[in-house]
Amino acid sequence: MTNTADVIVIGSGVVGSATAYELARRGHRVTVLERSPNVGDGASSRNGAGVRLGGRLSPEAELAAKSIYEIWPTLGEELDADLEYVRAGSLTLAHSESQIASLDKKLAKDRKSGAPSRLVDGAEAREICPYLSSYVEQAVWSEMDGHANPMATTLAYYRAARRLGARYITGENVVALEKRQGRVRRVLTEAGTVYEADKVILAAGFNSRRIAKTVGLWIPFLKRVDECLITEVQPPMFQVRLSCADGNFYGSQTRHGSFLFGGNTNLERYEECYDGKPMNTNKQAADKCRAIAKFLPALKNVKVVRHWAGWLDSMVDRLPIIQEIPEVPGLILACGFSGHGFAIAPAVGKVVTQLALGEPACVDVSALSYDRFKPTGV
Ligand SMILES: Cc1cc2nc3c(=O)[nH]c(=O)nc-3n(C[C@H](O)[C@H](O)[C@H](O)COP(=O)(O)OP(=O)(O)OC[C@H]3O[C@@H](n4cnc5c(N)ncnc54)[C@H](O)[C@@H]3O)c2cc1C
Repeated sequence: MTNTADVIVIGSGVVGSATAYELARRGHRVTVLERSPNVGDGASSRNGAGVRLGGRLSPEAELAAKSIYEIWPTLGEELDADLEYVRAGSLTLAHSESQIASLDKKLAKDRKSGAPSRLVDGAEAREICPYLSSYVEQAVWSEMDGHANPMATTLAYYRAARRLGARYITGENVVALEKRQGRVRRVLTEAGTVYEADKVILAAGFNSRRIAKTVGLWIPFLKRVDECLITEVQPPMFQVRLSCADGNFYGSQTRHGSFLFGGNTNLERYEECYDGKPMNTNKQAADKCRAIAKFLPALKNVKVVRHWAGWLDSMVDRLPIIQEIPEVPGLILACGFSGHGFAIAPAVGKVVTQLALGEPACVDVSALSYDRFKPTGV
């Protein structure tokens, strides 16, 4: 085996694997380097399963529209896998005045991006999801939203990419990039192996920052973790995705019956183990469960069987960077998905592939450039 390829992708999450699949589908030699022994061992295997069109800013909204209208509906067939994708709509729930004010902000965003959504009162919300309590005062109904199985989706991309000839090397911790004649060409790993390619795609989630620094790029990530919990199996109840307007919880019932809920308390940023594995706090699950029980009393006595945390590679403006960096030719950044990357990964894989091949992108992502960050306060 040689260590050269047309394109090297760093990171085997849903973004890296969707890109590897698209490149391999078009006949390119692609090598994916993954530091973990397991494929998709980042946010992609830890996320809350939401495939949401609403509540997004441009051009992330266009990536979501491309994914949800054009790709998700037939993606399982294309990848020959059951992704458990369900488009049953979502309700963003509100009780307090501040939560109701958040609904207005969400509706304003949707009006701007063209995502279909509307305000409903508590009674209509309960018609859509009869398990909701009278605690729901108002909600936003977004009919195009849904959910899918994140691990199944990431592995489906991985398997499809492998079938098409993509090479995955796990246990390869990338530590640096190196330029040759002004272009990024070499990828160095902790084990001392050197890989070479014409294009390098950096899709290593939160760790992209450390790797990008080796060629002088500073990515303004915020330190944030998000947590999820999963319940014991319940009989089929509803397919609509639910979330609380202030982010206390979001989630849905999985195909096998467990409920998967994510959320944050805004205290996670004070977590100490910033450089290590993301850890659960003792506050998160309890906080989520209290909120869920108020809105969904039917789940009040359901047991939580597991909970976990994952890094959000959160940018300061909550939008990713997707660009071949002009100052560092040969390097394409595809990171900073800020807790929103699973739903849009199908379109992102296509766009990143087009950037790598020097083609016009099917979604204009020029606003997601690295140089959109300017010094403030001067
Ligand atoms: C708790 C939680 C809930 C979420 N909920 C949702 C949701 O409901 N809907 C949604 O759309 N998004 C959600 N997200 C966000 C979504 O999961 C991410 O945006 C998406 O998975 C990003 O995919 P990725 O491939 O860019 O990154 P990752 O999945 O993080 O993949 C990066 C990969 O790079 C590898 N890597 C890291 N460093 C190196 C290195 N040095 N060398 C080689 N490999 C390396 C990692 O091991 C990992 O496998 C959530 C995230 C979390 C954490």
